[in-house]
Amino acid sequence: MSTNARMAPHYCPYCADQDLRPAEESRSSWECRGCLRVFTIGFVGVAGVDR
Ligand SMILES: [Zn+2]
Repeated sequence: MSTNARMAPHYCPYCADQDLRPAEESRSSWECRGCLRVFTIGFVGVAGVDR
């Protein structure tokens, strides 16, 4: 399991369009071709893990 893998969203969180492509500005940014929003996907943590 690679931690460097880019997380690819399947749907735009704003308009649910599936035509997404990587934005130029940042490695974690995605550009929606449907609504032209640019958003980032961030990893917060793993739920249910009790250390
Ligand atoms: Zn969109």
